[in-house]
Amino acid sequence: MRRMIDLHCHTWFSDGLLSPQDLLSRAAGLGISHLAITDHDSVAAHMTISAADIPDGMRLIPGVEISTLWENREIHIVGLFIDTANTPLIALLQRQQAKRRERALDIGLKLEKAGITGLNDYLADLPCEAVSRNHIADFLIAGGHASSKQQAFSKHLGKRGRYHSNADWCGVSEAAKTIHGAGGIAVVAHPDRYKLNKIKLRRLLSEFIAAGGEALEVSYSNLHPEKMRNLADLCCELDMWASIGSDFHTPNTTWMDLGRVRKLPAHCENRALWLHPRWSGTAS
Ligand code: AMP
Ligand code: MN
Ligand code: MN
Ligand code: MN
Repeated sequence: MRRMIDLHCHTWFSDGLLSPQDLLSRAAGLGISHLAITDHDSVAAHMTISAADIPDGMRLIPGVEISTLWENREIHIVGLFIDTANTPLIALLQRQQAKRRERALDIGLKLEKAGITGLNDYLADLPCEAVSRNHIADFLIAGGHASSKQQAFSKHLGKRGRYHSNADWCGVSEAAKTIHGAGGIAVVAHPDRYKLNKIKLRRLLSEFIAAGGEALEVSYSNLHPEKMRNLADLCCELDMWASIGSDFHTPNTTWMDLGRVRKLPAHCENRALWLHPRWSGTAS
């Protein structure tokens, strides 16, 4: 059977547009054979999916994407094959969700001071469990305060934005340990998006590995082939597993659609996550 794998995507339980069921239908239509749903700081999607929702022949992998702080940078750690009922994991996700709500309230107050009201009501109507700046960007665009997502982040919500607010996320090591403790494989998501130089990226990865982290996303949307080769080299050098994922959020961004990622470079094919013992060891 042809394998088409996507190990990173979002539903409306975080900042994705689709319900878990619609996401699964779309994945099936695109020929995805193995899908991990990895919402930001939430496993609610997995709780709502019943066996009947999973399209014939598809394997659904329980996942999550945890926001962390490392040296003052936000680093995203994906967890795959997690036990979604694991108590320490659930407790960590609840703390993260509370931080998300606090941050949204703080941004709401900053907006009100600038005369922009209604954020709380807007957020209350969303189906999400993990409230995201992505939702706040939508609110700003709908109100005519930003012309695009990019602009909403650069002008308003990003580190240098007018309404920026910090969240005190857990550390990288805590996320890796918790995922590992929940039986999962911890993966550093989209490693080139953090503006880390080579030395810092290696330092991050050595801390991550020391805490039980195992894998690196090597292929994902919008990644230049040369950067992908560099990440594959790093994966080999550090003896890590290689993951792939689109980071799909919405059908509107066609360049980030489900499964729309390059194949792993040949020299790291032997590190592909689907060769990890956990992949075949879990009943599907
Ligand atoms: P949060 O997890 O609340 O910090 O929000 C970050 C989310 O917003 C990411 O997961 C992306 O989905 C989205 N995002 C971040 N930066 C941008 C950007 N510059 N343009 C569009 N979406 C972004
Ligand atoms: Mn997102
Ligand atoms: Mn991410
Ligand atoms: Mn993501």
